[in-house]
Amino acid sequence: MSELSRRMMLGTAAGGSLLAMAAPDPPAQAASPLPQPQVPGYGGTDPGPRNPTLERLNPDMFTPPRTDHGALPNLKFSFANAHRRLEKGGWTREITVRELGVSKNIAGVNMRLNAGAVRELHWHKAAEWAFMLYGAARITAVDADGGNFVDDVGVGDLWFFPAGIPHSIQGLGPDGCEFLLVFDDGTFSEDNTFLLSDWIRHVPPEVLAKNFGVPPGQFARVPDYLYIFPAPLPGPLAADRVAGAPSPSPKFSHKMMAQEPIRTRSGSVRITDSRNFPASKTIAAALVEVEPGGMRELHWHPNTDEWQYYIEGRGRMGVFGSSGDARTFDYQAGDVGYVPFAMGHYIENTGDAPLRFLEMFNSSYYADVSLDQWLALTPPELVEAHLHLDAQTMAALRKRKAPIVPA
Ligand code: MN
Ligand code: MN
Repeated sequence: MSELSRRMMLGTAAGGSLLAMAAPDPPAQAASPLPQPQVPGYGGTDPGPRNPTLERLNPDMFTPPRTDHGALPNLKFSFANAHRRLEKGGWTREITVRELGVSKNIAGVNMRLNAGAVRELHWHKAAEWAFMLYGAARITAVDADGGNFVDDVGVGDLWFFPAGIPHSIQGLGPDGCEFLLVFDDGTFSEDNTFLLSDWIRHVPPEVLAKNFGVPPGQFARVPDYLYIFPAPLPGPLAADRVAGAPSPSPKFSHKMMAQEPIRTRSGSVRITDSRNFPASKTIAAALVEVEPGGMRELHWHPNTDEWQYYIEGRGRMGVFGSSGDARTFDYQAGDVGYVPFAMGHYIENTGDAPLRFLEMFNSSYYADVSLDQWLALTPPELVEAHLHLDAQTMAALRKRKAPIVPA
C-alpha cells in the first residue's frame, strides 16, 4: 500500500476531510527518515527486522565511523536498562560488573529517597563516593575513633564514606533527593550491605540484652525489613549533631560546585580527589561540562580505568585500544560509559545543549595525559618524523593543556 493510500484509509476511518487527507506528514517524521547503515562505498540498507528507537540512540554503533575497527568490549550501559528496586520510601538501581562486564574496579548505584525516607543505617566492604543529582539529603556517619558526622547536602555536593564506616542517608524537604553512588569495587552490590536491623534480628535476644546492659526483649519490636523506608522529616541540622562528640577528620562531605573550575572557551572541568577532598582516598573525580560544538580533548589516564556517568546532554566517545582497535559509543543522561586503563579517548558534544558528565577513577588522585600537550612538548623534528605535519599544524600544538577544545 502506498503512503498516500494508507493516509487516505486512516483519514476515512477517522472521518477526516479531503483537506486533512491531503495534508503533508508532520515535520518530525519527514525530517528523520529511518537511518541506513551505509556510507559511500561501504555497507548497505537494513531491510529489517529493526529496532529504530535503539538505533537512533546509538548512531555510532549502527553506522560506525570508518576509523572503528576490531573487538573492544562493550563500554556502555544505561541505568534505563538496569533493574529498579522499588521500596516503600523510594527506589534504587545499580550497574555493577554483572551489567557492565568490563567494569572490574567500580560499581555505580542511582538512588531516590522521598522526603523523610531513610536509607537504613548500614556499612559495607567497599568505600562509597556520592554526587547529589537532585534535592537535599541529611547524611550521618560515625568513625572508628568515635567521631560523629552529620551534614546536609544539596545538588552538586559530594560525600565519601570509607570502607566499613557506618552511615545513613535521609531525604529532606520538600521533595527528598536523588544521587549517584560510586563504589571502589566492580562487584559491589547495594543488595549485600550490612544493615543495622538485619544484624539485630540475627543476634540471640539474651546476647543483645547482655551487650546493651538492658532487660531481655527490648529489641523485640525491630521491623522485619527496612533498607529504604519512610520516616518523619528530621529537625534542624544543629539539633541532629551530637554534643561533645568530636568531628571526624578529614570531613566526609565536600562542595564540588564551590571549586573554581579549569575553564576553556568551550567548557570547564572541576577535579576532586584526595588533594582537595582528603577523605576521598580511593575515588578521584572530574565533573566535565562541554558546550555545543566542544570536545573533551584526545587524552588518556596513566593510573587506572575511567567510569563515567552522563548527567545531561548528548555525547559520543571514541576509544582507542591499541593494535588498531577503536570503537565509538553514544551517551545521554543516565548512561554509564567506561574506558579501560590507558586507552586513548575523546568525548564530543553531539547535541545542541551543554553536555555534563562525571569521570570517575578508583584512585587517590586524578591524572590525564593530553595528546596535544605531549606532541607540543616533544622535539618538533621528532614529531615531524612521525606525522609529516605542515608548519601551521606544528605551530598550533598547545604546550598548555586544554581539556575542552576549542580552547
Ligand atoms: Mn552505603
Ligand atoms: Mn578521560
